[in-house]
This record gives sequence, C-alpha cells and structure tokens, in this order.
Amino acid sequence: MPDPREFIDEVVSGAAARQNAGILSGMDAAAQNARDRLGAAARARGQSFTKWATSSNFVADREPVSLAVWPHLHTLYDAIPNDLTDLDICVMKAAQGGASIYAMLVMLYVALRERCQLGYFLPTRDHAMVFSNERFLRLCRDNEAIYSAMGDTERQLRASGVDGKAKGGMIDEGSKSIRRIGHSVVYFTYMGGVVTTESLPLDGIVFDEVQEMLLREVEKTEERLSASMLKVRLRVSTANFAGADIAYYYERSTQEEWTTDCKCPDGVMLADQWDPEHGPLCIAEHNALVYWRCPRCGAQVDPKRGRYVARNPGHPRRGFHFPQFVSPRQSAESILLKWRERVDTKNFYNRILGRPFTDPKTQPITEAHLAAAQDSTLEWGPLRENPGDWRGEGGSVVMGIDQMGGFNTVILACRWYDRMRVLYAEIVKSGDPWERCAQIMRQYRVRVCAVEALPNFNEAHRFARAFDGRVWVCNYADLIDQMVTWGDRPRDKVSIRKTDDEARGRYVATIDQYRMMSWALGQWTEGRVCTPDARGLVQHLRGEGGLDVPTAVWRDVVWLHMQRVALVTEEVQGRETERRLRRAVKKIGIDPHFAYTWMLLCVAWVRIFGTERLLPIDPDPNVYESALRHMPKELSETEQGYAAQIGERVDYADQGGPTMRKHMETPHYLRVDDPAPQDEIPTCGTCTSFNARTGECTQRGFTVRAALPACDFYSPVPAQEDRW
Ligand SMILES: [Zn+2]
Repeated sequence: MPDPREFIDEVVSGAAARQNAGILSGMDAAAQNARDRLGAAARARGQSFTKWATSSNFVADREPVSLAVWPHLHTLYDAIPNDLTDLDICVMKAAQGGASIYAMLVMLYVALRERCQLGYFLPTRDHAMVFSNERFLRLCRDNEAIYSAMGDTERQLRASGVDGKAKGGMIDEGSKSIRRIGHSVVYFTYMGGVVTTESLPLDGIVFDEVQEMLLREVEKTEERLSASMLKVRLRVSTANFAGADIAYYYERSTQEEWTTDCKCPDGVMLADQWDPEHGPLCIAEHNALVYWRCPRCGAQVDPKRGRYVARNPGHPRRGFHFPQFVSPRQSAESILLKWRERVDTKNFYNRILGRPFTDPKTQPITEAHLAAAQDSTLEWGPLRENPGDWRGEGGSVVMGIDQMGGFNTVILACRWYDRMRVLYAEIVKSGDPWERCAQIMRQYRVRVCAVEALPNFNEAHRFARAFDGRVWVCNYADLIDQMVTWGDRPRDKVSIRKTDDEARGRYVATIDQYRMMSWALGQWTEGRVCTPDARGLVQHLRGEGGLDVPTAVWRDVVWLHMQRVALVTEEVQGRETERRLRRAVKKIGIDPHFAYTWMLLCVAWVRIFGTERLLPIDPDPNVYESALRHMPKELSETEQGYAAQIGERVDYADQGGPTMRKHMETPHYLRVDDPAPQDEIPTCGTCTSFNARTGECTQRGFTVRAALPACDFYSPVPAQEDRW
C-alpha cells in the first residue's frame, strides 16, 4: 500500500501542474490581448488624428472613412491637435455631411490616448441607445484593433484564465449606456439622463445633434468637466433656431465658413446665396443643365473646391460651418429639388444650408418691434391719480405673474387710448415672492391678474382667494376652438368637462397656450403695445458673490425673453409617417419667463376687453352718453365709461350665448376699487379643520373634499390677505 501521504502529494502536484498550465495559457491569451489593446492605444498616441482616422481602416456606415471624397472635412480633422487639453470645437453642419462619424472618431481617439471618462450626448434616450448599439458598436466590431481594446481589462484577464483561450466572443462590449475602450469609459446618454442628474465627473463631452436644450442645462452638464485636466468639448449638430442650440456656440467661435473658389478674390459662401422666399441665387438653369454658379462673378463653380474662411478669427473655440452642397452625393439639381419639395423653409435652412433660421411666422417678435413700442413721454411705475382723466387708465390695470421655484416675474399694463401701455415689470426674488406680488396688486390697484398655476399650485390658489374675483389661476389645455375659458362662465363643451376636477375652480382660467401666446406676441407685431424708455426700468439683482448688480429689466431681460419663444407646427414624435402635425410653443435656448408673464398679462387683458382689437376711445364722452344715462349713480366716471365700452366687447368675446344675453340685461358692474373680497359660500376648503394635503376633516375625522358645502362645525379660515 503506498504511503497515503505520497499519494496525496502526487494528486495535489498533478492538479497544480494542470492548473498552472491553464493559468499560463490564459496569461498568454491575456498578454496577446493586452498587446492588441496596447497596440490600438499606442497607434492613437503615436499619430495625429487625421493620420490615425484615415489609416486605421475604419468603416463607418458601410463606407471607408476617406477625406478624398469629403474635402470639407479635412480641416475639421486637422483641427484636432496632438495635445487634447481644453479642446473646444463646434460644428454647425448640414445633414449628411459626415460630421457624425467625425464626432464618433474624435471620441474614440480621446478614449484611446487618455485615461478618462467621456460623455457622449444624443438627443433622447432612444437615440443614445440605438447610436451606441448600432453605429458605435458596428464601427468598433469592423475594426479588429479597436475591438480588442474594448471592455474591462481586469475582467477579461480573469475570463481568459478559465479555459485558457482568448476568443473573440469574450470581448466585453459593455452595455448600451457604458462602453470601455482602452483605459477609458464612454457613457452614451442624453440631456436629463443619469450622467447629467448624478454628478458624475467627466473629462470630455460630445454633443451630437442635441437640440432644443436650454443653455442652463448645457452649462450644468459642462460643470462635470470642472475637475478634469483634459476638458474636451465637441459639439456637432445641424442648426435650429437663431441664437440658440448649436448657433449659440457657433456665434461664439472662430466661425470658419466653407467658402467655394470662384473668380472673386475671396471666393463665395454659397450657403449665403439663398433667398428665403425666392430660393437659390447660386444655382443656374440653362436648357436642361442645372449647375452651381457664383452670383457675383458668374463663374460656374464646384462647391467642394474651396477652403474655410474665419469670420471671427482668434476666438479660443473653433467653429466650422458647411452646407450640404459639399456632399459628394449631392448636385445642384438634387438640392434644387429639395428646395422645391421642402416641407418648410426653416427645415431646409437647417438641414441643407446648415443655417439657423428665424421665421417671422414662428418667432414673430424682433428687437425692432420692441424698440418701436417705446414712447419717451411715458414713465415706469404706477399711474398718477387723475380722477378726471377720461382716458380711464386707472380702472384697466392688468397683471401677469409667472412663477418658478424660488421667484416670480410680473408685468403690469393698462389701457392707453387704443393700446396696451406697459407700466412695470419685476423679477420678484424673496423668501415669499407672493407677499411682494400682493403688495404690487394693491399699489397698482390691479383690476385683473392672471397667474401661472404651477409649480406652486397651492400658493397660486391662496393668492387668488386673497384677491377674490381679481386673480385667475391659469392652466393649459388644447381647447377645440377657443383661446381661453373661464371657470365662472361654464360652457357646454366636452373639452371643459374633461379638465381636471381639482382645477375646476371658479377663478380658474384654462388657456390654449399656442393660441394665447400667438395673440399675446401679435400685440407687439401689430403695434398695439407701448412702453416707456426700455432702459429706464432698473432693478438691483443679486449677482455673483452676493453683490447687487443694476439690471435694466425691460431692456436686457424682457426684450430677450420676448424673442425666445417660437410658435411652431411640428410632426408628432413617433408618428412622422402619418404626418400628424401639432402646434406647440417652444422655448429657445433659455426659459423665457417674461414671455409667459406677458402671455398671462394678456389673459387678464382679455378678461376685461375681449380678444378683438380695441376701438380708439373717443375723447368726447358724449359718444357714450346714452349708455351712461342708464348706469347706477354710485359708479365713478371711470367705471361708467368702462362699463359702457366693455359691455359690448365682453358680450362679443363670449359669442353672446343666451346666458350672456341675460347677464347683459342685468349687468354686474365691476367696482374698480372694490376692497373687500366677496363672501364665498362656506366650503370644507375654507374651514380651519380641513387638511388640504390629506383631504381630511380633522374635526370629524373622515375624508372630505374642498368643494363640499360646509357643515355645522364650520370654522372659517381667517381672511387670506391678512397673511400679507
Ligand atoms: Zn465669384
């Protein structure tokens, strides 16, 4: 019998040898893998971007990457320097110009050369996932060296040790949202995705076709770079609105424009040779021939032959622009066809010319409208008391309030002849902005005020209750044929019955946002608004470091906001094939609070005057004499005047249903200085025992609703205005 000890030793050493062999071959595979990986990284480190991108056998979208057929991309490739620190490039491009491949390759190049974390931003989550899984992964799989550099080094070393063989299938491709390349990690994400919401530090950011982002969001995302030594920023997108999206960054760059060679000494920027109404100035048609032509020197040109010319040289950010004309797949004929078959001009400008487009139909207000509205004889601030003034401004003061997380914005206006006269605007920043709003209500003797319902729903309603009958809380709905509906003027319309039960208060207005905004902006373009000198309204706003910075609120803030809303008709997402269109109000680049405030002011205005254009007030009160004769004596002259004029307008605005007709026969005269809130029918909602959060009656211990009539235990909440 052998010594059991020997036997065990033998078994153990045999097992160890087998294990060692396994480990050794595993290490071989890992070493090979590491060599490949190193090879890909070393190649990227040893070559310029242009050399690396064109000699690494990349196949993108089934075509080899070649700058010979895309000459306009050559400069863009050469713009990636050897030292990637602080790289900042912006490409405002036409669609299908090869720039997306460029963005992808830059990201790969950075990932291979550095040890870093990169964020690759696409417009939506779906875009990000499809891009990562199809375009990006395919690019990697088609390139052996890059593919072997993918995945987690440590994990792959362990994986290769198990069966001792390195197989293609063991490459860890990562997940759709996280890919590892070399020593780097790339996150494929979108604005508002996990990468932006969680404070993940990044070394580089690529924005690919990210549109309609607010600059504030972009800045927040870029804060992720603050701790990095690398700080790579690359933005590639087709243009959208002027002054926003990619155009905002392009304006703040070297603005290198693709310029085609012709007989002119400076060449010609063909993208500029286009008229928004009449079309191309740079395409000539001669018999059956359609060709590119410089409109100045008349030379026939090839759009692809040219160079970039910087309009703003010396800027630290490099910006490039090129139109679709440079694509080898396009001709003068195909571009002309696209123009003639365009869905809309803006779309053509954005996608084919690569230019932002300001359509007077979608962005109606220009700085010229705002400037023209100024009247130097007017002043900012409350109206001076002048009871004998028959223009009757005093009784027509309206106010709009938009509300945000920590501040409100207000605008006030009154009637002035046949126009709307702006009195005041303020950015109300304080612990309780509603308190200041209440103060303004009283100071200006506001007759009707409209306030946005969200986000502070309860505050808005409390404010409305405090000024019972004068404040309207506004919410939005797609109304079938109206601009605004009023909670106290119920109509037999299905659209209204469907609105949220909670919002169906008496002093609630429901607005069709598109129609209301378009009406509100239209007041400016039609010259129906006047303001004092825009520079004259100065507010001290808390700036950086807590210092008060004097700000011309109207000139510098309101003017900008008014120009940063667009009224668009767009195809419904996901249903493009059906060509279903939807109207929408878009924010351009910033959150234009004052444009919404102005819209709300117009809601209040419409409440008094209706939606029709105001008739000029005849300076001779005798015109209204017959109407005035029937007015109650206790009304002031102003009130009587208004009652006479407004009666028929309100009637008209309400389309004169039978209820309204009856109402007009027994008119209710709204008192201008009505100080005391009208008594409300006691309900659970105004009882001290009502817990608004849980809907519980604390007195009787069961669930009730705010709108229910009060019971015998009713104990009214003290008048709300006392709070202020
Ligand atoms: Zn020329």
